Amino acid sequence: MSRENTIKKVVIVGGGTAGWMTAATMAKILGRDYCDIRLIESDQIGTVSVGEATIPQISLFNKILGIDENDFVKKTKGTFKLGIEFVDWTKKGGGYIHPFGDHGTNMDAIRFHHHWLKMHQQGKVPDLEEYSLAAVAARQGKFMRPENRGNSPLSQINYAFHFDATLYADYLRDYSIERGVNRTEGKVVDVSLRESDGYIDSLLLASGERVAGDLFIDCTGFKALLIEGALKTGFIDWSDVLPCDTAVAMPCMAKESDVLYPYTQAKAQKAGWIWRIPLQHRVGNGYVYPSKYVSDDEAVKILTEEMEGEPIGEPNFLRWKTGVRKKGWNKNCIAIGLSAGFVEPLESTGLHLIQGAISKLMGFFPHQGFDQIDIDTYNAQSKKELEYIRDFIILHYKATDRDDSEFWRYCQAMDIPERLQAKMDLYQSNGRIFREDTELFNETSWLAVMHGQGLNPSGYHPLVDILPEDEIARRLDHIHAVIQKSVETMPTQKDFIAKNCQA
Ligand SMILES: Cc1cc2nc3c(=O)[nH]c(=O)nc-3n(C[C@H](O)[C@H](O)[C@H](O)COP(=O)(O)OP(=O)(O)OC[C@H]3O[C@@H](n4cnc5c(N)ncnc54)[C@H](O)[C@@H]3O)c2cc1C
Repeated sequence: MSRENTIKKVVIVGGGTAGWMTAATMAKILGRDYCDIRLIESDQIGTVSVGEATIPQISLFNKILGIDENDFVKKTKGTFKLGIEFVDWTKKGGGYIHPFGDHGTNMDAIRFHHHWLKMHQQGKVPDLEEYSLAAVAARQGKFMRPENRGNSPLSQINYAFHFDATLYADYLRDYSIERGVNRTEGKVVDVSLRESDGYIDSLLLASGERVAGDLFIDCTGFKALLIEGALKTGFIDWSDVLPCDTAVAMPCMAKESDVLYPYTQAKAQKAGWIWRIPLQHRVGNGYVYPSKYVSDDEAVKILTEEMEGEPIGEPNFLRWKTGVRKKGWNKNCIAIGLSAGFVEPLESTGLHLIQGAISKLMGFFPHQGFDQIDIDTYNAQSKKELEYIRDFIILHYKATDRDDSEFWRYCQAMDIPERLQAKMDLYQSNGRIFREDTELFNETSWLAVMHGQGLNPSGYHPLVDILPEDEIARRLDHIHAVIQKSVETMPTQKDFIAKNCQA
């Protein structure tokens, strides 16, 4: 292909996390000379300023950018995350951790949890969580990065981060500008389409400047200014299965404590749930709720009562429609971030979806001709990726014994996607779980949440019976002891941060 046909001008609209993650990756991978990368953001409109909890895949993103992790944690006042604690989801008073990293170790080619299930069904062993290094360490406020220690579970610590969303966008902005991205502060007020094919031709800024481009990335958040406003792409609504459509975010001061827990907390309410994200300098809090059942005033009241310290700033309300854009890539426009679609942040998947979209965009990076087969494949993959995540999140609402409000009764009774129902049925028969092709959440995640939400298999894998029961008991005891001993040797997260990445 001749150089004439390559993309010469990329225009990214939006300087939230999506815009700057995209700009940073393009700057790193394309370098300074391949094409002009311009990012337009409006200070007047601002960003959502949430999105502070991540999942372990973000480490890969950091590696691609060559980011020094301690420097990044320090500058974003971040902390580490070993999982999510779900409180009151199955019934009031109950709780479990969805940990990053496996439970136990597989035995004789049969997954660990089948052996555990057999013993647990007879009441002979502790809860599943006790066999997860991440969960045990999280509950004790311990953290360290994995160290090469042979078979020890300390070699396999899987972790993510919590950080200040605004500082994260600033961090990536500095990174991108240093590598040649042109930043324009300004508001896009009009979008011109080419008459011949309806592709985006140029954008008009409030300053009167016209910005032309070959490839436009819509990172305008829920506004979806290009992909929907200009191109009228259409949207698939999933609010019948995920009825929360509003959040109010309000950070607060952290209460004095010796322990800095390395997990996000999601605490269910009569309708919706409250997040708690511990950072170095403050705690991020937010209440995700269905506007049909909870008013804004009630939401602020409930959130304020749950908060541990003085609020910082005014309540920040965010409203959305749950679902996905019919096409994330339409003509010469790709929507990345909230403009592409959104499912509520219960499993901290927003930034991961941005990362996934960027990775696919680089995989399908176009030339000026734009091959439709590339676009169609990108769209099919993106939709599937979000559908898998949607199903996993629905599980938390559907599999519950809570019936103490209209909201929970709705969730218990609602129709769910067939694929999810099949997964739940499969688990409830003999505890089997299979990950589907490109699905984000693996067997460990499904197990933690299905078990945590109170699904109880009636059987277990029959090949478990090959091992004598006292041998299974001995091995489970051993795994349990190794995990407890390993966690004893870990530093607290507080000490780890003080030593490596204190803000
Ligand atoms: C309540 C809530 C909680 C969340 N929690 C998490 C979480 O814990 N973990 C996680 O991974 N994800 C989370 N997410 C998702 C995450 O916040 C987003 O994926 C991420 O912040 C990306 O947002 P964005 O950049 O797409 O949009 P925004 O932050 O809204 O940025 C939009 C940008 O577009 C610009 N813009 C808009 N219109 C114009 C215009 N006309 N001209 C010029 N510029 C314009 C704005 O100025 C802004 O710069 C959460 C989302 C919500 C709603």
